Amino acid sequence: VKRYLRDYLRRNGLLTLSVMAVITGCVLGFMLRGQAVSSQAKIYFSFPGELLMRMLKMLILPLITSSLMSGLSSMESKACCRMGVLTVTYYLWTTFIAVVPGSGTEMESHRLGGGPVMTSADALLDLVRNMIPSNLIEATFQQYKTDLIPVPKTTVKTTVQPNFVYIVPDESNPKGQSVLLELTPPPDILYKPKPGSSQQMNVLGIVIFSATMGLLLGKMGERGLPLVNVCQCINECVMKIINAAVWYFPFGIIFLVAGKILDMNDPSSLGKKLGWYGITVLAGLFVHGLILLPFFFFILTWKNPFTYIRGLLQALVIALATSSSSATLPITMKCLLENCGVDRQIARFVLPVGATINMDGTALYEAVAAIFIAQVNDYELDFGQLVTISITATAASIGAAGIPQAGLVTMVIVLTSVGLPPDDITLIVAIDWILDRFRTMINVLGDALAAGIIGHLCRKDFPRDAENANGEPPGS
Ligand code: ASP
Repeated sequence: VKRYLRDYLRRNGLLTLSVMAVITGCVLGFMLRGQAVSSQAKIYFSFPGELLMRMLKMLILPLITSSLMSGLSSMESKACCRMGVLTVTYYLWTTFIAVVPGSGTEMESHRLGGGPVMTSADALLDLVRNMIPSNLIEATFQQYKTDLIPVPKTTVKTTVQPNFVYIVPDESNPKGQSVLLELTPPPDILYKPKPGSSQQMNVLGIVIFSATMGLLLGKMGERGLPLVNVCQCINECVMKIINAAVWYFPFGIIFLVAGKILDMNDPSSLGKKLGWYGITVLAGLFVHGLILLPFFFFILTWKNPFTYIRGLLQALVIALATSSSSATLPITMKCLLENCGVDRQIARFVLPVGATINMDGTALYEAVAAIFIAQVNDYELDFGQLVTISITATAASIGAAGIPQAGLVTMVIVLTSVGLPPDDITLIVAIDWILDRFRTMINVLGDALAAGIIGHLCRKDFPRDAENANGEPPGS
């Protein structure tokens, strides 16, 4: 027994610690909720969790740029094209599949007034705009307070959580983006972004630029080698940092989770309807993540999806703890390379692209939330509107960044596309933070399964590279 236990802990020690950290965080959070904790004490208490988030965010930029540039530079352009087309087609297909069953619900009643504020076309233009950042350095920035302009409190419709301010388009800013800003500590004056300034790192723009650079470096042959070598070195260093940092994660997770529970609204204040909405989203996520996606994986690869998913558990726990698929990216990459045996070149392309555009969980949640809001408003949705919801929820999930509660902001596009009042987002805000954690898990799972599938479909183009850790995926 002792030997078995030692073997088990050596193989799964980190995962066990992370799961225990989530549980400890929940228990600690609920225990402290009974006590009077000052907001200053809460900030100190959340500090180890904040450090964890900062570590993960720090790694995103070097990981994405070095992965894509070094990964794509060593590929044939034909193989690259095939992989790119397969990846994007698969991502769009699975996201759409996630949305459709959700928007098939029937409803009765009458219509609401109120026209769209921000159209889907605006959102689409925004997405394309993000693909071509006008200033690359700026694209790597987080938004700071100095980038924000003060707004009178009257134009701010909702305070979502103590540190979040949600600003909806108003008369003075009719076409303005709705934004969810995190301001720590909560401000006296409220701010909104200057027009044209982005709210967070423009990961999509960075992905597009790095992929183009990678392809061109490959074509340059000898002359491109120095830069390719630099990128490979950076990539190796980042992976080493990740390997060391993961041992801090269980500690950080305890405080991240406990801090969130300490901050959450009183669960008894949530209505019965909201409870059903939450259960519907969770059930949808469960079916999509544990039945549909594994089924696709199985029929496309003939490998056991659950053995593959077992290798991903560490990444899924981090997704649950951080609510951010971008922040989880370094760990997803580590799991795919070390436990699932996915080809390095495939993982380097499919994961960063997936973390930016493939959000099955978000798409599913947006469709269910739109229908829930319609039901609350006694608003009858016809077939055309259900199709509109499916399409806009797919687009909105592509446009959502891989950060906490980004889906809540892009919800506005879905609501306005069928004439629902965007302010009604306030109805679902109370439980959004918890649903966000589960949809992020499904987003990460979708990206990782996609990498396994694309790797299998493109295996002729990429004979397994020698650096790869474990040979064939355990599921084979
Ligand atoms: N938090 C999600 C993610 O990072 C996005 C969202 O649905 O809000 O994948």
